Amino acid sequence: MAEKIAAVATGHARTGIGILRLSGDGCIEAAGQVFHLQSGKPLSSLPDRKLALGTLFDVQGRPIDHCMAFISCAPHSYTGEDTAEIQCHGSPAALAAGLEALFAAGFRQARPGEFTRRAFLNGRMDLTQAEAVIDLIDAETADAAANAAGQVAGAMRKRIDPVYDSWVDICAHFHAVLDYPDEDIDEVSDENLRASVYEICGMLEGILKGYDNGRLLREGISTVIVGRPNVGKSTLMNLLSGEQKSIVTQIPGTTRDIVEDTIRLGEVVLHLADTAGLRDTDDPVERMGVELARKRLNSSYLVLAVFDSSEELSAEDLELIEKIKDRPVVAIINKSDLPRRIDIEKIREKIGHLVQISASEGEGVQALEQEICRLLKLDQLDSSAGVIANERQRSCVEEAWKTMEQAKQALDGGETLDAVNVCIDSAIDSLLELTGERASNAVIDQVFERFC
Ligand code: GDP
Repeated sequence: MAEKIAAVATGHARTGIGILRLSGDGCIEAAGQVFHLQSGKPLSSLPDRKLALGTLFDVQGRPIDHCMAFISCAPHSYTGEDTAEIQCHGSPAALAAGLEALFAAGFRQARPGEFTRRAFLNGRMDLTQAEAVIDLIDAETADAAANAAGQVAGAMRKRIDPVYDSWVDICAHFHAVLDYPDEDIDEVSDENLRASVYEICGMLEGILKGYDNGRLLREGISTVIVGRPNVGKSTLMNLLSGEQKSIVTQIPGTTRDIVEDTIRLGEVVLHLADTAGLRDTDDPVERMGVELARKRLNSSYLVLAVFDSSEELSAEDLELIEKIKDRPVVAIINKSDLPRRIDIEKIREKIGHLVQISASEGEGVQALEQEICRLLKLDQLDSSAGVIANERQRSCVEEAWKTMEQAKQALDGGETLDAVNVCIDSAIDSLLELTGERASNAVIDQVFERFC
């Protein structure tokens, strides 16, 4: 039996409209003691989700507002229980008096997030959708709201359901074959099984990648500008910053400390670090700078590798290309205002993303922005595509993906169906934790603690 709960849903500020939200068994009849329909009929006679005029009374039976209410009956309401909403004028005093009258009629104060928690417990939404409700409330930009709205509508579920369905099919077949070896049940053909496992791994990997890209968009990209001395790194830094952050001179080896700035390139935020030119040097101070640059190169996500268009590729350039070629990197061919001597194709062979700019002339910034977006596939992000919303969700999907990778290895290594089945069972567990169907109480509590 669900206790009757009530809360002011619109906060405690003075507003045009204030809403009292109610849920629980018998809530409509109990609300009828406090809110009388203008028609004189009982509140429970209202059609589902149709607003009707009436009067709200306080605990002493005084009318405190002429306002509207609607009911929404189990099991199709938000919480899955009988619910009602009373839409009053937004006086905090009148709302508090209405709430007091409701308590006298048998309601208790709802706890933070309790309506959504009940919706989850009653199967009206899964845990990813419940998390999205709070993300939507917290959204600070229209993009964040669009992303959360897609999740509330079940975008993640739509991505996960096909994975889950094919697993259940595979597992059901396994169990049939393993449990009834004498029956004439078609074995899952190796080809079909392998195809399903590979397909599922690919889907999970795609979902994880979407999260990484989404996070890059939300949090910005740690980016390092590297190259040998004098190729124009500091000039590029200053151009992107819009101010003189780094000292620009013709003397090689001037930048020694790491110079940092956070800049916005279109939709992308870069946490930029300009570093000392990478080269072997006898100068102890410059050597410390080069060491810092190497460390930052390793710890940054995106590499902007700068080359001087007016000079031939040097041994240092080639060494740098080898070092970074397998990372997210954009090759920046700078000084393209000068006659070209560099072999661009040689760079392109190793680094797929390349732009020609002139940092001192301020040319090529837009091309750089587009190339970064292309490299990180940021332009393909779809807010309704079920992108993972947080670390909890990411770790569930990652666990599922890891165990599916083990299933892949078990298959390729010729292990028994049993071994593959164990992996798939465990991957299913991870997905059930993601949707909340098999999440522990502690995990569920943690999710709903975010509501306040
Ligand atoms: P860093 O050592 O790589 O940081 O290089 P700097 O930014 O200090 O630039 C070295 C020299 O190259 C300076 O004299 C700059 O004015 C010059 N420079 C930088 N970018 C360009 C460019 O796009 N075109 C030309 N012609 N000169 C540039």
